[in-house]
Amino acid sequence: MKAAVKKFLAFAGGLLVLLIAIVLLRTVFVTGGGSEVSGDRADAPPPLKIEDPLAAAKRLSGAIRFRTISIENAPTRAAEFAGLHRYLKETFPLTHRALERTVIAEHSLLYTWRGSAPESAGLKPIMILAHQDVVPVGLDQEWTHPPFSGTIADGFIWGRGTIDMKATLVANFEAIEALLKEGFVPERTIYLGLGHDEEKTGIHGAGSIAQYFRERDVRFDFIQDEGLIIADGLIPGMTRPVALVGIAQKGEGSLELSVLGESGHSSMPPPRTTVGILSTALSRIEANPMPASIEGPGQSMFESLLSEMGFVNRMIFANLWLFRPVVNSIMQQKPQTNAAVRTTLAVTMMRGSNKDNILPARAVAVVNMRIHPRDSIAGVIEHIKRVIDDERVQIRVMEGAQEPSRVSPVASKRFAMYRRSIHQVFPDIASAPGLFIAIADSRHFKDLSENIYRFQPVLMTSEDLPRIHGVNERVSLDGYVRFIQFYAQLIRNGGQADNSP
Ligand SMILES: [Zn+2]
Repeated sequence: MKAAVKKFLAFAGGLLVLLIAIVLLRTVFVTGGGSEVSGDRADAPPPLKIEDPLAAAKRLSGAIRFRTISIENAPTRAAEFAGLHRYLKETFPLTHRALERTVIAEHSLLYTWRGSAPESAGLKPIMILAHQDVVPVGLDQEWTHPPFSGTIADGFIWGRGTIDMKATLVANFEAIEALLKEGFVPERTIYLGLGHDEEKTGIHGAGSIAQYFRERDVRFDFIQDEGLIIADGLIPGMTRPVALVGIAQKGEGSLELSVLGESGHSSMPPPRTTVGILSTALSRIEANPMPASIEGPGQSMFESLLSEMGFVNRMIFANLWLFRPVVNSIMQQKPQTNAAVRTTLAVTMMRGSNKDNILPARAVAVVNMRIHPRDSIAGVIEHIKRVIDDERVQIRVMEGAQEPSRVSPVASKRFAMYRRSIHQVFPDIASAPGLFIAIADSRHFKDLSENIYRFQPVLMTSEDLPRIHGVNERVSLDGYVRFIQFYAQLIRNGGQADNSP
């Protein structure tokens, strides 16, 4: 008997030593993908030289003056969009001579830059998306400079839509104009898709552009859209800024939960009213969130950043096979990180009777869901049914619900090219894939490419984030130059037949 115990202890001890050895070996030798994609290769084209940054800033400023505001349920401001279209034509004459321009859904624009490779080469084109519309501004007086003045002051271009997303829109024209001047011709065909209603679902603009390609059976090598940014001081444990490229987008939609009952006077109520029954269901949903786990895009992010981390963080993230439960519980502590690791459910609306002394014949609540790429709308409904466990509660998916996107592969030549393009323009930052928890126009293109990258080449701190859709939106002059350089680099590198040099 004693011998058996001894044998067991020796075995267990050996196992523990092995475990520690694996953890340490992985900490030291698993470096993630971070270091493979440095931008300073000898054969890399240097970033585009911007001759006159102030002149470029002024051209952006001109585009900001058009009040292409999207307001839910309001008609499109046709004259403002027409004005912007005219302005682009006048400001970028070479582009308008060399590229085909197609108007889609009245206010959206599609530009085609034909590639030099023969059609028979079967090269898929690339698509760059940027929306023309902006959100409303609230009170003008709160702005340091009037939101549609496009004022250039203190090293910044100020105005609604600078970041979201006229900088991208105009920077692409700047990049194309400059590349045309150089005599550059892409091998792949490059499309520029400029929707007009992204801020109210994009269904008419980007939706119609996507449909145009669906009908012509065109698929894209990759699609570039807005999304994540270069996070400066936003990722715990990271000293350098990190360019985060959204390789997936959460699904979004709402569920209506309702309970039917008897109407009547509240002087003789049943033990439970429809509102009471529904409330119980809602509190069960809140008490039983969907499972959280760091996997997919979130895991890829940390794995890419291993070489950037200190020893302890590196030990943890290189050994998620062991430490996943610890990481999961840390991620759940803050709403921002919690949203990255699970499908979130938020009870946003509730309605019962509309008089204080009348029993509610029908109680209705709305639960907004943001669906992690590993889940689905059906999966959310199944989860809710199980946790509320009450047949009286009816569940209906409200109109407009969207499944999460696919996850674009990171182990691909294309993604390496994409990250290299970032590093060629921003040599001193790190980069990593990530999960985009908001939504943008690329939602309409989910079936048109395996590779959708959601990223804007702009450095942001926690102080800058509220400016998007908020007050004093702005982009720095230097930052704007990088916008132009990044899109030029993406067109040069991504437009090549072989994405990997
Ligand atoms: Zn946007």
